[in-house]
Amino acid sequence: MSQEASRSIRGDGGELRARAHRSWEDDVLPALVRYTAIPCLSPDFDEGWEASGHLAEAASLLQAWAEGKAVDGLRAEVLGGSGRTPLLLVDAPATGGRTGTVLVYGHLDKQPPLGEWRDGLGPFAPVREGDRLYGRGTADDGYALFAAVTAVEILDAASIPRPRVVVMVEASEESGSPDLPGHLDALGATLGSPDLVVCLDSGCLSYDRLWLTSSLRGNLVATVSVQVLTEGVHSGGAGGIVPTSFRLLRLLLDRLEDPRTGEVRLAALHADGRPERSQTVPPSWNAAEAFPVVPGLELEGTSDEDRLVRRAWSPVLAVTGMDGIPAVRDGGNVLRPSTTAKISIRLPPTVDAASAKAALESTLTAAPPSGARVEVRVDGAANGWAAPPIDAWVDHAFTRASEELFGTAPGSFGEGGTIPFLAMLTERYPGVPLVATGVLGPGSNAHGPNEFLHLPMARAVTVATARLVEAAGARSPGAAR
Ligand SMILES: [Zn+2]
Repeated sequence: MSQEASRSIRGDGGELRARAHRSWEDDVLPALVRYTAIPCLSPDFDEGWEASGHLAEAASLLQAWAEGKAVDGLRAEVLGGSGRTPLLLVDAPATGGRTGTVLVYGHLDKQPPLGEWRDGLGPFAPVREGDRLYGRGTADDGYALFAAVTAVEILDAASIPRPRVVVMVEASEESGSPDLPGHLDALGATLGSPDLVVCLDSGCLSYDRLWLTSSLRGNLVATVSVQVLTEGVHSGGAGGIVPTSFRLLRLLLDRLEDPRTGEVRLAALHADGRPERSQTVPPSWNAAEAFPVVPGLELEGTSDEDRLVRRAWSPVLAVTGMDGIPAVRDGGNVLRPSTTAKISIRLPPTVDAASAKAALESTLTAAPPSGARVEVRVDGAANGWAAPPIDAWVDHAFTRASEELFGTAPGSFGEGGTIPFLAMLTERYPGVPLVATGVLGPGSNAHGPNEFLHLPMARAVTVATARLVEAAGARSPGAAR
């Protein structure tokens, strides 16, 4: 065994951890705080994103930070144009004669504030409290670029040879990644075919080990509008004669789900058969504490294991916005002309989003209740993703990283959320191993108020990324094994 190989197996685990810690404290956090202050909302939540310039500002902040790193030959470039949101591409050439490419994915666009943030916190006013950095986009997914580039930096500082690393940070993820295919097409030859893809936009069930994402749900986002009048009228005059748009909308939603159980009624939205999947529940995880539920709330599912399987494999409907209804203080005795709901439906990993979309449209538009004017617009249809069996060398590197960081093997679980990028990439590069992991764990509350980044987990994911990159390099022809 060469000296180099022996060092990469022993001895440098503590060094990488220490370097990651120092980089995060001295260098990453100040920049991440500046990024967090930018309201760089995803295009779905900021129609005027081009004029407001927040996405461009965030991209150039991250670009400038990456360019300042002590990584030989590193290039950071912001691509845009054709009305597409910016894409930041950081390219760090291979070192030590290694070959191949590792592609690391993250995104810089954010969800809107969504809800009341606790006193002293705000979505764009970052606050550090101990091990947590609060603010919108800290964990979803601003940390990703920092973790990926720091992984490269600490490998180089420790003289551990590695393949080329390309970090791709897009800016339309929270809108379903509509701009990503165009960017990938334009990049085609530049990216080549990666040997490993690492996606840093996923979650963890606990902060005491690394977690691998075994599946993701897909997503349908639609707007359903029911109109009964051309203008509002006195509810005393019309009530009892003109059906209300709210009730008719309820009838439409009942076609989609059983209102008592939440069970989705459309066969096309269920996975074929019910996949028999088990799930390890870490001792520190229980559903009642994983979410800020009110005391006494009865949860769905029969056990925590069942809940995790349901979250991974069941379709579920949520109404995420409504129009046509005034705020409570402004409500009068009016029979309103229309009610519009925005709905978000999570789809099981293996359901075809296009078929689900067709089923949704035909279900909602067939025989409008009471002959009302019903309009349905599907704004997004994204496939889920079920991980293919993980390659042994990837499994080995990830397991080793979890053991050196936490003294325990990694876990794996099905995510309830959607990362359209993974399905796109699996289609584009069939057979390329793909590791999806991340920092979105208990309480981190991406897409809600009080989002925080768990800093020890962010550093751990940084070291894990370094280990995966190192392992991909060790497969280069000629590399000492
Ligand atoms: Zn995200």
